[in-house]
Amino acid sequence: MNSQLHDVLVIGAGPGGATAAGLLAQQGLRVLVLEKDEFPRFHIGESLLPMCLPVIERLGVPPNADTFVYKQGATFLCEATGRTRQFVFTETLPGCGTHAWHVDRARFDKALCDAAVRAGAEIRHGETVTDAGTTDDDVFVQTRTATHRGRYLVDASGQSRLLARRADAAVPYENFGRCSVFTHYEGITDAAWEEFSPGNNIRIVLAKGGWGWVIPLPERRLSVGLVGRGKITDADLESSLLSGPLVTRLTKGARRLETRVIGNFSYRNDKPRGARFACVGDSATFLDPVFSSGVTLAMLDAQGVADIAGPALREGREAEPTLMAQHHAGMDRAVRTFAGLIDRFYNSHFAETVFLSPPNDDLQMRRGIMSVLAGDVWRTGNPFQDMLLSARRNEKRMRASTAGSPPSME
Ligand SMILES: Cc1cc2nc3c(=O)[nH]c(=O)nc-3n(C[C@H](O)[C@H](O)[C@H](O)COP(=O)(O)OP(=O)(O)OC[C@H]3O[C@@H](n4cnc5c(N)ncnc54)[C@H](O)[C@@H]3O)c2cc1C
Repeated sequence: MNSQLHDVLVIGAGPGGATAAGLLAQQGLRVLVLEKDEFPRFHIGESLLPMCLPVIERLGVPPNADTFVYKQGATFLCEATGRTRQFVFTETLPGCGTHAWHVDRARFDKALCDAAVRAGAEIRHGETVTDAGTTDDDVFVQTRTATHRGRYLVDASGQSRLLARRADAAVPYENFGRCSVFTHYEGITDAAWEEFSPGNNIRIVLAKGGWGWVIPLPERRLSVGLVGRGKITDADLESSLLSGPLVTRLTKGARRLETRVIGNFSYRNDKPRGARFACVGDSATFLDPVFSSGVTLAMLDAQGVADIAGPALREGREAEPTLMAQHHAGMDRAVRTFAGLIDRFYNSHFAETVFLSPPNDDLQMRRGIMSVLAGDVWRTGNPFQDMLLSARRNEKRMRASTAGSPPSME
C-alpha cells in the first residue's frame, strides 16, 4: 500500500525524532513519524545538559515535576580514596544555561511527542520501519504494511541506526565503554533524598575499569548504573556500585526494580548526512554516556537539521547534496570535543587530575571545562575545548576499527 506524499518522513520518536518532527511541523511542513514502540516506554538516558533547555522550551514542553528534576551540576567521586569534586553549571563561560534537568525518560519522550503532534506532526506508534532510503526524486520508508514516500528523510532510529546499517557505515569506538548494567530504586527515604539537596547533582562514581552513575528522578526514585569497557553483569553491579557506601546509604529501605543490560553502544556513523537525508542523535553517533551528552546532542542535532531542511523544503532545495554541510561541520566539532574528553577520561590521568583534584587556578580554563560539561561545544574561544580538539592525541587514540556488532538489549 502506498500512502500520500509527505514533506518529511522521520524514523523513530525518541528525543531526536520528536524534536525534528516538532520543529519541522512548526514550520507548516507535513511530517510523518514512524515509531516501533507504544509510548510511554522505558528508555535509559535520564540526565540532561543545560544546552538542550532552549530546545525543550522551543518545543513548548513545560518542566512538570512528574517528569523533570532540577539539576545543578555533577559530582565526581572515588569511593576507594574518598576524593570528590563538584562541578556546577553556574560557573561556565558566558552564554550557557545555569542548570539542567534529570528526566523520567518514559514521560519526557512522550511529552516531546505530544508537543510534536500539537505542532501538526503525525506520529504512528507500533510501526517498525524495515527499510528506508532515497532516490534522486524522493525518499521512502517501508514498514511491514506500507511504503511511505516523502521529500526528505530523517533517521532518528537511535541505536538501531537504520541507515548506517544499510550503508555498512557504523564504526565502533573501541576505547570507550562497551557495556552497561543499570537499575532503578523507588521509595527513597527523606534522609537519602536530602543528600542531593540543593543541587541534585548527578553522582559519577569512578571505579576500576569503568564508572557508575546515581541520578535522582521524579517521585523519589533513583537511577543507578555501571559502565564498563568489557562485558559486565548484574554481579559486577552488585559487587561494586550497589555495595559501595554511597548507594548502600541512599537506597536503604528502598525497593529495587528491574535490572537491564545494554552493550555495544559507542560508535560513529560515517555517512550521517547526504542528499535528501540526515541521521540525527544516536543514529548519527553515540559516545559513551559518562558526560550525559546523548540527549542534548540528539536534540541539538535535530534542531539544526530542522532549521536548515525546513526553509530548503519550502524553497525546493531539499535535494542539494551539500545542504547539511555547515551543520555537519558543527556536529563533527561537537562530537570530536566530547570524544576527546571521553578518550582522556578513560585513557589518561584526566579523571584524577581534572575531575577529582582541587580546581585549577586558571579561571578561564575552569569555566572552559564547565562549558564543555554543559554541552556548549559549538563555541570558539574555549581553551579547554581547543585542547580536547588537538589533533595529535585524537588521531592516535580515537582510531575506530571495523564495523561493530549490533547493540544488544536484554
Ligand atoms: C547506559 C547508557 C546511559 C545513558 N545515559 C545518558 C544520560 O544520562 N544522559 C543523556 O543525555 N544520554 C544518556 N544516554 C544516551 C541516550 O539514551 C541517547 O543518546 C538518546 O536517547 C538519543 O536519542 P535518539 O532520539 O537519538 O534515540 P532514542 O532515544 O533511542 O530513540 C530512537 C527511537 O527510534 C525507535 N526505533 C528504532 N528502530 C526503529 C525502527 N526500525 N522503526 C521505527 N522506530 C524505530 C526506537 O523505538 C526509539 O523510540 C545513555 C545511553 C546509555 C547506553
